[in-house]
Amino acid sequence: MDRQDFASLMLKVQDIAEAVVAPNATAVDAEAGWPEAGIRALQREGLGGLVVPAAYGGKGHGLYALARACEILGQECASTAICFGMHCVGSSVISANATPDQQARFLAPICEGRHITTLSLSEAGTGVHFYLPQTTMEAVSDDAFSLTGNKTFVTNGGKADSYVVSVVAASPEAPIGQFSCIVVPADAEGIRWGANWEGLGMRGNSSRTMELQGVRVPRRNLLGKEGDQIWYIFNVVLPYFLIAMAGTFLGAATTALEEARRHLSRRYHTHTGSSLAQASVLQHRLGTLWGMVERTRRLTYHAAASFDAGDPDSLTAVMAAKVEVADCVVTVVNEAMTLCGGIGYRKGSRLHRLLRDARAAHLMSPTTDILRVWIGRALLGQPLLSD
Ligand SMILES: Cc1cc2nc3c(=O)[nH]c(=O)nc-3n(C[C@H](O)[C@H](O)[C@H](O)COP(=O)(O)OP(=O)(O)OC[C@H]3O[C@@H](n4cnc5c(N)ncnc54)[C@H](O)[C@@H]3O)c2cc1C
Repeated sequence: MDRQDFASLMLKVQDIAEAVVAPNATAVDAEAGWPEAGIRALQREGLGGLVVPAAYGGKGHGLYALARACEILGQECASTAICFGMHCVGSSVISANATPDQQARFLAPICEGRHITTLSLSEAGTGVHFYLPQTTMEAVSDDAFSLTGNKTFVTNGGKADSYVVSVVAASPEAPIGQFSCIVVPADAEGIRWGANWEGLGMRGNSSRTMELQGVRVPRRNLLGKEGDQIWYIFNVVLPYFLIAMAGTFLGAATTALEEARRHLSRRYHTHTGSSLAQASVLQHRLGTLWGMVERTRRLTYHAAASFDAGDPDSLTAVMAAKVEVADCVVTVVNEAMTLCGGIGYRKGSRLHRLLRDARAAHLMSPTTDILRVWIGRALLGQPLLSD
C-alpha cells in the first residue's frame, strides 16, 4: 500500500471516529456498554483485517497502522480504540502462523467484517504475569482438546466471535511451562461469562471473566505448535498489544491537551478583560504538555515503524513507547484538568472521562513497573523473564 492509500485508510478511520465513535462515547462510558456502533462501522469499512496479511485477504498493515488507528479512535473514545485494538492483536496472533484451514475459518471472515476476535490471556492467579497461564489443555481425542480454567479481564468478553486463549499442557509428561495459544469459538460449550464489566474508566471494554469448564476445542484451532506460546508472546502479542495501548492512550492525551488549549483560548475574566491565553504561567504549562505529548508520539511512531521494518532491537522501543505514553497520558490529563479549572472538574466534562480512562494505562499489563524492568534487562542483555 502506498502513502496515498495509507492516508485514505486513516481518513476512513477519522471519519468513523467523528461520525460514529464520538457521538456514542458519552453513552458508552455512562452505560458501560460495548461500543458496538463504532466496531461495526470499522468492520464495514474493511478495517477488521487491518493487520491481517494481504495474502489472507487483509490490509497487510503492521504496528504503525495500528498505532495510528488506535490514536485516532482514542481521541474520541478510549474504549472503542482498545476494543478494536484487542481485535487486531487477536487477529495478528491468528495470522502469525495460520494454517490454510485457520485462514478460511477465522481470517477470511475477519477480513470480510463478519468476525471479531480478541485476546484471553490474563488469569486471576498469575495477575499481571499474563505470560503464565494456568488454564489447562488436555488432549481428549486425536482431533480435540479440552480446556479448563479461568481468564480475567477479557476485553470484548461475551461480544467477540472467537477468543485467542493461552493454555498450559495438562499432561504430566509435558515439559514444565509448555504453553500454547488456541482459538476458542464463542459458541463452544462450557464457557461461562462473569458479570458485566464495571470499571472506573475504560467502561466500554466489556473486560469480563471467562470460565472454561472442559471446553472442547478442535485440535485444528491450535496456533503454531504445542508449546509455541512464548514465541507468540514476544513476537506478536507483546508488540501488538503494547502499540494498541500506546496508540489509544496517546489519543486520549492529545484530546486532553486540546481541551486545555481550547479552554485557555476561550476563557476571559471580566475584571481584566483578558484571556487566560495571555497568562505566561499558563502558556508555559501548556507548552510543557505539548512537548510531552509530541515526544511520546514520535517515540511511538518510531517504535512501531522500526518493528514493521524488522529492526531486531525494536521491542525495547515498543516497550518504552507504552511506558512513556502511560506517564504522558496520566500527567497531561491531570494537568489539563488543572488548566480547565472547575469547568474541567465537573461531572460529565470530557476530562472527567479522560482522567478515569487514563488511569488504566499504567495498570494494564505489562504494567509500567514490569516494562521498565524488562527495558533495563534488554539493555543489559539479560533474559526478560528472569524471575
Ligand atoms: C481495562 C482492562 C482491560 C484489560 N484487557 C485485557 C485483555 O483483553 N486480555 C487480557 O488477557 N488481559 C486484559 N487485562 C488484564 C491486565 O492486562 C492485567 O493483567 C490485569 O489488570 C492484572 O491485574 P491484577 O489485578 O491481577 O494485578 P496484580 O498481579 O495483582 O498486580 C498488582 C500490581 O503489582 C505489580 N506487580 C505484580 N507483580 C509484580 C512483580 N513481580 N514485580 C513488580 N511489580 C509487580 C503490578 O505491576 C501491579 O501494579 C485488562 C485489564 C484492564 C484493567
